[in-house]
Amino acid sequence: MTDANSELRQELERLRSLEKTLHMALDMVSDGIWDWDRVTGVVKRNAHWYRMLGYEPFSLPETVDTWLQLIHPDDYDGTVSRMQRYLDGQAELFSARYRFKKADGHYIWLHDRAKFVAFDGQGNPIRMLGAHHDIQQQVQAEQEQRNYQARLEQLNRELEAKVEARTRELAEANAALTRQVSLYSRQAQTDYLTGLFNRRYFEHLIGEHRIMPPRQECAIVLLDLDRFKEVNDRYGHPVGDLVLQAIPSLLKSHLRNQDVLARWGGEEFIVWLPETSKTNALQISERLRLALEQARFCHDIRLTGSFGIADCRPGDDIHHAIEKADSCLYLAKQMRNRVICT
Ligand code: GH3
Ligand code: MG
Ligand code: MG
Repeated sequence: MTDANSELRQELERLRSLEKTLHMALDMVSDGIWDWDRVTGVVKRNAHWYRMLGYEPFSLPETVDTWLQLIHPDDYDGTVSRMQRYLDGQAELFSARYRFKKADGHYIWLHDRAKFVAFDGQGNPIRMLGAHHDIQQQVQAEQEQRNYQARLEQLNRELEAKVEARTRELAEANAALTRQVSLYSRQAQTDYLTGLFNRRYFEHLIGEHRIMPPRQECAIVLLDLDRFKEVNDRYGHPVGDLVLQAIPSLLKSHLRNQDVLARWGGEEFIVWLPETSKTNALQISERLRLALEQARFCHDIRLTGSFGIADCRPGDDIHHAIEKADSCLYLAKQMRNRVICT
């Protein structure tokens, strides 16, 4: 019995010294260590735990309440419910990040990890060992990283918005410019009074071989209104303008889609008749002459016109053809209300 007692005493002694060694080792690590005896309710904390938080070593009550009171109110529920999950056997270990109150009243971020280390005969946990690790700098760095990231994203959004706005502005400016260019080019092509192509554009079409391509038989007709000055003299220039404005639709109603009509000068017009023989050009011009003669303009004004025609064969010079048409027109003018062909 005595032997057994002394064996037991020796074993106890050995365990106590082992425990002491363990506590010395725990004291040396940088974390704050806590050791919760669930039977007595006592929570032992190592000296470093106190120092880390700015408390006088072993100055706080060794209870669970001490822990609960120092948790930041905003982190309290989350932390306690994590502990409960572990106590209920729903987690492998207790692990939580939360703010914890220091002696000076400031909070620091801690990472708290703990595990059961001893069980009773029925397997119920009776002791829990945990470590508080100071993660203040890490959390700060994470926060700075998040702030930096958010700032970067904000700048990126601002930049994208600026680029988008600038692109929109440029597209609008471009569209306005395109509209302006097309307006100018229409204006440059068009005679302001009659809406017909003007002489310059007609000559441009010649230069681009869109009028009189080299391998086509066609005709040029020049038309000059007879005694138009009298219209102006009698009714005034604005009425003369109205008459001139009525000419295009009158002529076009006797022309084909492919024929090109332009205002050549004051009361002179030019027509290009593509793929048209001399005979056909004569017929068309005669129709135009008749239409003019029969037309009644405002104030019941009557008009006639003189026509000069030049036919063109492949290889002919269009400018030469226009000169020939002009010579014919000159001849027609001798009589007026006539069509003269080369
Ligand atoms: P002719 O039979 O010899 O061709 O006689 P004409 O009076 O038509 O010829 P003339 O060359 O003597 O006069 C042309 C007239 O056309 C004079 C000019 O005022 C008029 N005229 C030219 N352009 C315009 C215009 O844009 N508007 C108006 N109202 N008249 C114009
Ligand atoms: Mg004239
Ligand atoms: Mg005239």
